[in-house]
Amino acid sequence: MHENTCPSCQLPLSWKENGYYCDHCRHPVRKRAFCPDCEQELEKLNACGAASYFCPQCHELKSKSRVRICFELT
Ligand SMILES: [Zn+2]
Ligand SMILES: [Zn+2]
Repeated sequence: MHENTCPSCQLPLSWKENGYYCDHCRHPVRKRAFCPDCEQELEKLNACGAASYFCPQCHELKSKSRVRICFELT
C-alpha cells in the first residue's frame, strides 16, 4: 500500500513545492502528525535528511513508527 494517500479518494498523492497534492481531486493535502501519547499535533523536524517528530507537550521526540499520521484536504 502507498504510504501517502488522499483522504478523499485514497489515491497516492504527489509532492509539489508547497506540500502534498491530489491530482485526482485537484486539491492540496496537508499531512499532520499526532502524538501517540497525548494527541498533540507534532512538529516535524528534518535532521540529517531523516524526518523526526517532536511533541511540544511531551518535550520529546517521537518515533516515526508510533506517530499517528493523518491527511487532510486543505
Ligand atoms: Zn483525492
Ligand atoms: Zn505528546
